[in-house]
Amino acid sequence: MPMSQGFKDRLIPIVDQLAAHFGTPFHVYDEVGIRETGEALKQAFSGVAGFREYYAVKALPNPRILQLMFEMGFGADCSSIPELLMSRELGARGEDIMFTSNNTDRAEFQAAAADGGCVLNLDDISLIDKVPEFPELVCFRYNPGPRRTGNLIIGNPVEAKYGVSDEQVVAAYRKAQERGATRFGLHTMVASNELDYTYMVETARMVLEMTEQVEKALGIRFEFVNIGGGFGIPYRPEQEPLNLTAMAEEITAQFEAFQQKHGYVPRMYMESGRFMTGPHGCLVTTAINHKDTYRQYIGVDACMSALMRPALYQAYHHIDVVGKPDSAPTEVYDVVGSLCENNDKFAVQRELPQIEEGDLLVIHDTGAHGHAMGFQYNGRLRPKELLLRTDGSVELIRREETVADYFATLTFDADNFKPTAG
Ligand SMILES: *Cc1c(COP(=O)(O)O)cnc(C)c1O
Repeated sequence: MPMSQGFKDRLIPIVDQLAAHFGTPFHVYDEVGIRETGEALKQAFSGVAGFREYYAVKALPNPRILQLMFEMGFGADCSSIPELLMSRELGARGEDIMFTSNNTDRAEFQAAAADGGCVLNLDDISLIDKVPEFPELVCFRYNPGPRRTGNLIIGNPVEAKYGVSDEQVVAAYRKAQERGATRFGLHTMVASNELDYTYMVETARMVLEMTEQVEKALGIRFEFVNIGGGFGIPYRPEQEPLNLTAMAEEITAQFEAFQQKHGYVPRMYMESGRFMTGPHGCLVTTAINHKDTYRQYIGVDACMSALMRPALYQAYHHIDVVGKPDSAPTEVYDVVGSLCENNDKFAVQRELPQIEEGDLLVIHDTGAHGHAMGFQYNGRLRPKELLLRTDGSVELIRREETVADYFATLTFDADNFKPTAG
């Protein structure tokens, strides 16, 4: 099931009022649902000592959302300077932050080390010499290459730009030791939107085995392993959710076995984005035009600047029409925005209840990689974000972009440079 019944029950009765008060389009996020998922995650992994979720900030980089994560005791997984700044602004320090950049530049290393530092997660062996002040605690992102296949979005790890290769791992930790590191973690991220829990169990097994190999070679004891994000959510009604209970049980058993065998065990971290917030957000938009040509088009007041996934990945996002029961007569529509791109479609040839101009459409599962991925191409601006609080109040947590925002980068100090000849 996409969007939970609980979220629907909280949102649908008030959605007309929200549309009237705030104006459409908007993304709205459900605090109750986010907290429930966070608590379920903690509960599921309560048998793994030191378990911690580092919320992948890129999925929904809004300070109010990040604040909920910190209130639940989670850390932040950042991969850019703005993400670091946002996390620190809310008080995250040191080991509250994993910095997982790739193709990292000097400014990023400096930002990572500033303000109490963070857990530096290095993406490549060549970066070791480029870290200006090498931290005591370091982590590498491991790319297993041909050892793992099968995840559909990330695809074959051999073709992924991320991480240290299998044969480089020991050398990477040795080099880090030479630069003064004394504390170590191991990270991987080999899946995206994976609904098969056994894939994640395999990932946990893989990182634990890898720490054994490195310990054997270098005598390093790992403080933590991070199994990354990529936990899937069911976007389609017929899909089953990830089996969190079974996954946690099997992973917990592996950590217990490691403890038995070695007399210690690394802490387990994960950095889920989609799983934490994806189903707890939706995009509410108004039908403004109905066009009947070779196909029936419903034009809405949002476009792909608010949600790129359908255009980028042909991703399915479930759509409800507010006030129209499933039993209502249906039509087959393309639901489209107004960008001059033919892939600006939230749904293609979708069977939906008959839609009238003025109807509200609820596009499900936009709580992760939704607003965050938006852009301004074609002068189409990004919508506002709302938070439906646990007490039933609704808070504006980001305003919509304005034309002034669009023109803001055209205001700058004149700089006319004449290169010298030759
Ligand atoms: C994007 C990303 C995540 C989060 O992925 P989800 O699919 O949202 O769980 C976690 N870690 C890293 C390094 C990422 O790049």
